[in-house]
Amino acid sequence: MSASEEKHSVKIGNYALSETIGSGTFGKVKLGVHNMTGHKVAVKIVNRGKIKSLDVASKLRREIQNMQAFRHPHIIKLYQVISTPTDIFLVMEYVSGGELFDYIVKRHHLSEQESRRFFQQIISGVDYCHKHMIVHRDLKPENLLLDANLNVKIADFGLSNIMADGEFLRTSCGSPNYAAPEVISGKLYVGPEVDVWSAGIILFALLCGSLPFDDENVHTLFRKIKSGHYLIPGHVSEGAAHLLKSVLRVDPLKRATVDDIRKHEWFKVDLPAYLFPPDTEKDSSVIDKTAVLEVAEKCGVSERDVYRELLSGDPHSQLAIAYHLIVDHRNPDRSTLVREFYVASSPPASAKDAKQHPERVEKGVPLTRNLEVSTTGRGTRAKWHLGLRSQSSPHDIMQEVYKALARNRFEWKVINDFRIRVRRANPATKDYSKMTLQLFLIDRDGSYLLDFRLVLPESPALLPGHCGLESAAAGASAGAAESAVEATPASVAADAARKCAAEGVDWLGNPDTPNFSHTMQFFEMASSVIMALTR
Ligand code: ATP
Ligand code: MG
Repeated sequence: MSASEEKHSVKIGNYALSETIGSGTFGKVKLGVHNMTGHKVAVKIVNRGKIKSLDVASKLRREIQNMQAFRHPHIIKLYQVISTPTDIFLVMEYVSGGELFDYIVKRHHLSEQESRRFFQQIISGVDYCHKHMIVHRDLKPENLLLDANLNVKIADFGLSNIMADGEFLRTSCGSPNYAAPEVISGKLYVGPEVDVWSAGIILFALLCGSLPFDDENVHTLFRKIKSGHYLIPGHVSEGAAHLLKSVLRVDPLKRATVDDIRKHEWFKVDLPAYLFPPDTEKDSSVIDKTAVLEVAEKCGVSERDVYRELLSGDPHSQLAIAYHLIVDHRNPDRSTLVREFYVASSPPASAKDAKQHPERVEKGVPLTRNLEVSTTGRGTRAKWHLGLRSQSSPHDIMQEVYKALARNRFEWKVINDFRIRVRRANPATKDYSKMTLQLFLIDRDGSYLLDFRLVLPESPALLPGHCGLESAAAGASAGAAESAVEATPASVAADAARKCAAEGVDWLGNPDTPNFSHTMQFFEMASSVIMALTR
C-alpha cells in the first residue's frame, strides 16, 4: 500500500494529512496541517508509477523549484515537494471556497460585473505566469478554485507543462471543451495563446453559464472547436461579446493576446491596480520582519537563522516554508499597515548641519474636510515629531488607530475623519492627559503620516515652545531642519524624552511643572498606541 492510500493521520514531513478533498488524474488531494504554524495546506499526491523516466523526475524537480518561487494572489502557491519511494507530495496553499464552476452552476450565470472581476483575476494570474515563461495549458474548471473571500486561485500552474512534456500518463481528452483548436489538432508548439483561448471559454461560461463548444461526441466537439462557430446569448453586452470574439479566434496568430485583453474597454472597468503591478518582483522581495520573528519564536531558532534560510533560496527550508505560510495567512491589509509604520523624531533645529530626511513631510497635507493646518511660527525653536508612516489606505489606518485606542481604553472625540482628540484620566492629578492624532498625506504615492501631538491643559491648541512633540508638517511649515530616524516605538519615545530634557527644560517644561508631567504622560500614551499598532 502506498502512503497515498492510507486514510487517516498520515504524517508527511511536517504535515499531518487528513481527509481527501479531491481527486484528479494523478491521484488524490488531501487536506494537511502544518505542525509548526497550524495552517492548512492541500497535499496533492502523485504516484511515482506514473512518471515514466528519471529524466522526467529531474525535470519535475527543476520546474517545481521555479514554481515555488511564484507568488501571486490568484495562483495557488506551491510550498514544498516531498518525495518518497512511492509518491511525490506537492504541498500547496489550501483554499476553502470550492471550485469556481460549482459557484457558477448554482447561479446559472453571473452578472457582467462579477464575471469581469473573476476574469480580471484569472488574466492577472495567467499574465504573471506567462511573464515567468510558464504556460498553464490546462486551464479548466477543476483548476479554478475559490478562497473564502470569493477570490479565484488558479491551481496546477506549470504542472501540466511538466506532465505533457514528461509523458506523464494523462487523459488529454479529459476536458477538451477548454482546449484550443491548435491543441486538439496536435500542433507541436503551444504557447501562451492556448491559455488565452481557455480563458475565453471560461469567460463565456461565467457570462452565459454554458460552454460555447459542447457535444457528447468528442469528434463532433473537436469539429465544432476547429470551426470556431458558437452563439453568444442576447443578454451579453456588446463590450463583453466583442472581447469574447477577439479571444475565441481559431487562428492563434489573430487571437487577442493577454496585452490586448488588458487594453480592452470591457476588461478595464473597475480593474484593481494590484492585479497588474508595474514591478511584480518588488513585493515578494521585501522580507516581513514580524513574520520572521514569529517563525523564530514558533520554531525555536534565532531570527538570523530565519533570514539566512530565506535568502538561501533552498526550496526545502522548513523555516522558509513556515515563513511563507505565516505571511500568506495574514490579513493582507493589516500586514501592509503594520509593516510600513515607523516612528520618526527630529532633532532640534539648533542642529543646523542636520541633513534633511528624505521623508520630510514638507508638503504634508492634513487629511480633513475642513483643511486646517496648524502653524506654529516659532522660528528656530526645537522641533520634534513623533509619527507613524504607512502606505495603507487612510481609512484602514484610521480603523487600526481606533482599535489601538480601544485596546488602551482611551477616550476619544472625532474631530474629522482623520483627526481625533484622545484623552486619558490621570488619577494622580485628577485631570486628563490629552493628545491629538492627525493623519497627513505626505506624498503623492499615497504615503501617510500619523502624527501624535500633545495638548496641554491650559490651551486646546499646541502651545508654542512648550510642546514635546509636534507634527512633522507643522514643523516643516515653521522651517525647521528635520532629520527623522527609524527606531522602535518604545525607544523613540524614551529617547525623545531624554533628548528633550537634554536640550533644555524650557522645551519640555520644568520637571516640577505640570507640563512636564503632561509631556511624559503624552509619551506614554503615544507609545502605547504605537505599540498596539505595530504589534
Ligand atoms: P488534473 O489531475 O488534471 O489536475 P484535477 O484538477 O481535477 O485534474 P487535482 O489537481 O488533483 O485534479 O485536484 C482535484 C481536486 O482537488 C480539485 O478539483 C479541487 O476540488 C481539489 N483541490 C485541488 N487543489 C486544491 C487546493 N489547493 N485547495 C483546495 N482544494 C483543492
Ligand atoms: Mg488540478
